[in-house]
Amino acid sequence: MQKPKALIVGTGLGGMATALRLATRGYEVEMVERYHQPGGRLNRMVKDGFEFDLGPSFFSMSYEFTEFFDDCGVTNPLKIRPLDPLYAVYFRHLKQPLLIYKDKEKLSETFRNIEPGFKAKLAKYLAAAKAVFHDTEYRVVKKNFDSHTSYLLGLTKVPLKHAPGMFTSMWDRLSSQFDAEEVKVVMSLVSFFLGATPFDTPAVYSLLNYMELEHDGYWNVEGGMYMITTELIKLLEDRQVKIHYNTEIVRAEESDGKVNALFDKEGKRWTADLFIINADAAAFRGKILNRKKYSETKLDNLKWTLAPFTIYLGVKGKAEQLSHHNYFLGDNFKEYSNSIFKTSVAPAKPYYYVNVSSRSNPNCAPEGCENIFILCPVPDLRHKTDWNDATALADNIINDLSERVNFDFHKQTVTKTVLTPLDWEKSFNLYRGSGLGLAHGMGQVGGFRPSNKDEEFRNLFYVGASTIPGTGLPMVIIGSKLVTERILNYVRTI
Ligand SMILES: Cc1cc2nc3c(=O)[nH]c(=O)nc-3n(C[C@H](O)[C@H](O)[C@H](O)COP(=O)(O)OP(=O)(O)OC[C@H]3O[C@@H](n4cnc5c(N)ncnc54)[C@H](O)[C@@H]3O)c2cc1C
Repeated sequence: MQKPKALIVGTGLGGMATALRLATRGYEVEMVERYHQPGGRLNRMVKDGFEFDLGPSFFSMSYEFTEFFDDCGVTNPLKIRPLDPLYAVYFRHLKQPLLIYKDKEKLSETFRNIEPGFKAKLAKYLAAAKAVFHDTEYRVVKKNFDSHTSYLLGLTKVPLKHAPGMFTSMWDRLSSQFDAEEVKVVMSLVSFFLGATPFDTPAVYSLLNYMELEHDGYWNVEGGMYMITTELIKLLEDRQVKIHYNTEIVRAEESDGKVNALFDKEGKRWTADLFIINADAAAFRGKILNRKKYSETKLDNLKWTLAPFTIYLGVKGKAEQLSHHNYFLGDNFKEYSNSIFKTSVAPAKPYYYVNVSSRSNPNCAPEGCENIFILCPVPDLRHKTDWNDATALADNIINDLSERVNFDFHKQTVTKTVLTPLDWEKSFNLYRGSGLGLAHGMGQVGGFRPSNKDEEFRNLFYVGASTIPGTGLPMVIIGSKLVTERILNYVRTI
């Protein structure tokens, strides 16, 4: 039998990875993308001689990429480097940044005068986190579930000792094991990778601490993160996958429980045997398929991750004090986390993350210059719709950074771009500008997350941050494997 034709909507990492897995299996694959170039959030901007990665700046679980390329019959073309130190954390009240290492001796040295007995406390904390990771990896994370019931049954196979971690917050768990505020804050930064605060992130996600500090650590890609997109597109082109940019899908045509075609904004009809949606899995069901369960009110009542406010600076000179990855925090972590993300007012003293990718990829900036990426998590567009204060917020952050690392970023700036949640929503269709898609509370993961298989149309599937298993580059790669399994099972039945 001739292999079916698949149409993939969106060239984010999930879309590209699924396209390659299917093309490897002999499927004819075509892709449509509303943006002018591929990658989705894994995108780049080239401006005034500088190259900026737009979103992701590092990733965990590097072996998922190796497994993915193996599945596609190619050697991993990415040259990746471990982050060492993993990152630096600047507190306002400390003179020096805290350097966070995977190496436990060095890490203990960082906290020597801050948390007595740190090494033993950390070992105990990580042992529990390790158990959560390994006890859920194959039972929950890397698994398709057909119903809430099968998911709940799956959960019963996870040792009962992890149950309290579903109902306690990450902050409370950290508070029960460490005394120093600085340690608790540093260890809880991982919750922001899930797009939430440690006060509303369940303690089971301490597994992310195990992933960063013990398991596989963090990595980035030689040449910049956009190399992932560049290499995937090369492989897709080798396999004759056709990609159409500036093409936005706005409507579906269905009959007999199947999608027959999708229509773009210009009215063009796109046909295929299978359709895979890499746009947001919840928002697509609401906005394009008009599902009542995903009406605007219901979508707004779901829990969404924080929105990004991002600044891209090309600067003359070298801000030597900065590490590759840096967090700049204040001294009111709990108050800040609990108040700032649900208001319509920009933070007066913002917390933010800074990445200098030219530090390890000199080709991303002209000689003697540096490219600076600043990410400040802010309220999504449900809470703050007006971003006319973007320039003031950006200036506020740049002033603060200049003061804290003693480098005049204003004066040295050659090029500057600021993206607000409105820009992120507009560029990649991110619902209400939410940066990482749906949040990961217990009611929105596994069998409770929008499924990667449509409820009504048997030839319609989903991949990406808002379906299973969740957000972040490795999770989306795992998601491409799970949806491919779904598709192969479906094709066997037709
Ligand atoms: C600022 C920022 C920083 C991040 N940092 C990290 C990091 O350091 N490490 C990490 O692991 N993760 C990070 N992430 C998360 C990571 O980027 C995402 O989880 C991942 O890239 C999502 O991939 P996806 O497959 O869901 O596709 P997306 O990136 O969402 O791409 C989907 C594509 O579909 C297109 N599309 C949408 N609707 C339509 C339509 N109707 N018709 C046609 N095309 C459509 C969009 O234009 C987009 O190109 C970050 C995210 C952001 C925003």
